[in-house]
Amino acid sequence: MINLSSQRKFNLDLVADLEESARWEMVGEEALDLLREYVRFPTVNDPDGLDAERAEHSPWLAGREEEAARWLAKYLRAEGIATELLEAAPGRLNLIARLPGTGDGRAITLLSHSDVVPAKRGEWESDIDPFTATVRGDYLYGRGTLDLKGLGIAHLMTLLLLSRQKVPLRRDVVLLIVADEETGGQFGAEWLLRQRPELFDTEVVLGEGGYSPRGLLPGMGTIHAISVAEKGYLELELSVEGKSHHASMPAPNDAPARLINGLARVLTMRNDIRLTPAPRALLKHLANGATGLHRLLLKFPEMAVRLAPRRISASSIVGAMLKDTIALTILESGHKSNVIPGQARAILSIRFLPGTNVEGLIDKIRRALDDPEVRIKRLKYKPANASDFTTPQFKALLKHAGAEEADALVTPILSPGASDCRFWRQAHVNCYGWIPFVIPGSDLHSVHGPNERISIAAFRQGIKSMYRAVAEMAMTA
Ligand SMILES: [Zn+2]
Repeated sequence: MINLSSQRKFNLDLVADLEESARWEMVGEEALDLLREYVRFPTVNDPDGLDAERAEHSPWLAGREEEAARWLAKYLRAEGIATELLEAAPGRLNLIARLPGTGDGRAITLLSHSDVVPAKRGEWESDIDPFTATVRGDYLYGRGTLDLKGLGIAHLMTLLLLSRQKVPLRRDVVLLIVADEETGGQFGAEWLLRQRPELFDTEVVLGEGGYSPRGLLPGMGTIHAISVAEKGYLELELSVEGKSHHASMPAPNDAPARLINGLARVLTMRNDIRLTPAPRALLKHLANGATGLHRLLLKFPEMAVRLAPRRISASSIVGAMLKDTIALTILESGHKSNVIPGQARAILSIRFLPGTNVEGLIDKIRRALDDPEVRIKRLKYKPANASDFTTPQFKALLKHAGAEEADALVTPILSPGASDCRFWRQAHVNCYGWIPFVIPGSDLHSVHGPNERISIAAFRQGIKSMYRAVAEMAMTA
């Protein structure tokens, strides 16, 4: 599969003006070829596919990014760009490429991941395979096109163009393409940052977290949603131990009954709305597309939160940015239809806002359960994080994202999910999750789902925006 001579490759060294549209046409062709080849590497990361023995003793076997990483490195090196491959475990390769600047300012880091979530062939349209990079109309289909190989190629093309154009850089531009993002970064970003703590020495990281959907909210055009913060994650196990006995004589303190009664109180608990900086900015931006009372509420979010909390958080996307959420994801008890089981168990998946007092939240859950027989155990925990979005680098994103659309809104958001950005944000480095490709809002379902696809026109346009934004950041110090 590695055959560079078959790639369309254009020498832009002598091209003084990349802004000429014919040049962008060529860049777009090269980028599409690269993305198709990248998608064909089945870099699936699937711990659930391992048997118990392997999961315990060789968990790295869940993924394999090696061939893709070697192919990317070869392409970069062929252009004279210094590139390293670091192996976290057998088959789990992480890539670092660096384009040197004068060092007047700290680096700009472009971060993506090469692993993808599994794809069930049978769930995709019958004639589309997730790993053959099928083009149909204006769309390229394939696992990873949106999450996150498309962004990886946009970053890579940005590095190549800065190098070919000999753009005078005042900061290094660092490209990181890591393994293992989809299952938490143990063999990817987390490992890499332990090996190379100097990667924290960067002005900003551009990563993932937001998309640029069209038609997602009524009356709005494209929303370039740039993630500047992420909710934290807490997983709690609730369990009750009781006596197993015959179903002919049920009692109120049977394990399943106790657990369900407690859960009912927890799941109907009132969750207060709280404004943090990114959603506050988002609501104000959304006011421009609204009318009447709704417009007034959005314009003054502090007032709206007090006077109309239900209305302001009615959409589940916006609602998730305004409050801590508690979801019941696993409920287990019993296996015989005529026996009341002695045990019952549930898992709560909790996402909390930056600034939430987690101990206080657990206390609140304990009080709502109102039953000392229900035991609470913490399983997983990731803190929430947030970046400053008043920086010159964020202003460059505001300027270049959607610059060629008449009705685009560019706004910071709080992302309800976690990404590798969190490692940098925890170290007080600003990280902005920006995926510049404009997609129909309905295509967001294809991320981690069947028929994942990217609009080819949007992909090309996104590369242009990315290049312009990064060039501006790297040329100023
Ligand atoms: Zn991703």
